[in-house]
Amino acid sequence: MKYDIVVIGAGIQGAGVAQAAAAAGYSVLVVEQTAPAAGTSSKSSKLIHGGLRYLETAQLGLVRESLRERELLLRLAPELVKLRPLHIPLYENSTRSPLAIRAGLSLYSVLAGLNKDSFFTQLGRAHWPTLAGLRQENLKAVFRYYEAQTDDAALTRSVLQSAVILGADLLMPARFVGAERNGQCCKVDIETDKGHESISCRVLVNCAGPWAAEVLNRIKPALVSPSIELVQGSHLLLPPLLNQYFYLEAPQDKRAVFVLPWEGRLLVGTTERVFTGTPAQAVCSPEERDYLLATLRHYFPQLVIPGGEIETFAGLRVLPRSDKTAFARPREVMFAVDDELRPRVLSVMGGKLTTYRATAQEALLRLAPSLPTKERRADTALVSLIPVH
Ligand SMILES: Cc1cc2nc3c(=O)[nH]c(=O)nc-3n(C[C@H](O)[C@H](O)[C@H](O)COP(=O)(O)OP(=O)(O)OC[C@H]3O[C@@H](n4cnc5c(N)ncnc54)[C@H](O)[C@@H]3O)c2cc1C
Repeated sequence: MKYDIVVIGAGIQGAGVAQAAAAAGYSVLVVEQTAPAAGTSSKSSKLIHGGLRYLETAQLGLVRESLRERELLLRLAPELVKLRPLHIPLYENSTRSPLAIRAGLSLYSVLAGLNKDSFFTQLGRAHWPTLAGLRQENLKAVFRYYEAQTDDAALTRSVLQSAVILGADLLMPARFVGAERNGQCCKVDIETDKGHESISCRVLVNCAGPWAAEVLNRIKPALVSPSIELVQGSHLLLPPLLNQYFYLEAPQDKRAVFVLPWEGRLLVGTTERVFTGTPAQAVCSPEERDYLLATLRHYFPQLVIPGGEIETFAGLRVLPRSDKTAFARPREVMFAVDDELRPRVLSVMGGKLTTYRATAQEALLRLAPSLPTKERRADTALVSLIPVH
């Protein structure tokens, strides 16, 4: 057997599984078709966050786990993950009342274990004009709380680098083209610029993000595909028009929109639209761009947004198929195994950038029945993440 584990995809989930697997002492190979974070993991809102809005859909476990991972990443990756103050302005016609936001932020703080990063304040009226350019008319309250921000692609590269330092192999660019599984192993077929290669492993982990269904379709004997759907979320990358962080309610449909200074630019996002094309074709549509610009203009009426082409990017969430809006669907990561007792193929779909480490631990637990006992090399909760230069 060449490897214990072969991971398809070097997005955050693939990098995370590879790091956890190498730390646990397994031999592991990561196969990536393009580059680390070439998919969704470079197109997120770049927040390492608990997900305040998931409280409304009672996803308390997810919020607690995310806040725990946020605290850990602030410690393990101080150069990559930084705490930022977010402002939530509430107006006469906002859906949520100041009381509801106060209750939500209090619960958030409790779920964070009341640590110092979870404290929040309600800004007095005298502070409001310091929120440069924010619409003051009908403003009722402003809350300030903290979330962490990252460079998602840089974080992914750093986790992948950590995996390699711990002993993982990386094949890139290399494309997974098929696999055959049996009771003992998986034979994985890969195409590189040098040609075709077949690699045997005990288990195959499908971390292909929006391509996960395509990967599953190439595995023999055929597997039951989980019922998933791709939902596109777009962002604008504008010049640095603001230097404060905001969490807003889109006036058109009351969805959450973030306005975040990021790496010398202003990031505005996101949207939600069901996507049916091939993943590489995801682009921000003119309607999504206008929706985000309208939200920005609504809250910052004096802002002069330069004309001409606006830089945008679009990412794809893998969500459970449902009639509900994307917002109302669970955001927990989805695991699908071919066989609960003796898994050969595990798919890790959706989930969050923030919780990649916890997700990877859970993935290894599910694979344990098919893996030998190995001597642990490290604990990922203690491994510092260094930026890759
Ligand atoms: C709009 C948006 C905003 C988000 N914002 C946040 C946020 O602020 N905070 C947060 O915590 N989470 C956020 N998320 C969630 C988070 O970004 C994703 O859950 C995460 O990036 C998914 O990572 P992944 O590794 O599963 O997929 P991907 O990053 O898409 O990685 C899949 C990889 O597999 C590779 N691949 C595919 N097919 C093959 C093949 N055949 N052979 C070899 N390689 C292959 C691809 O090239 C790609 O690199 C957001 C998601 C979206 C869509």
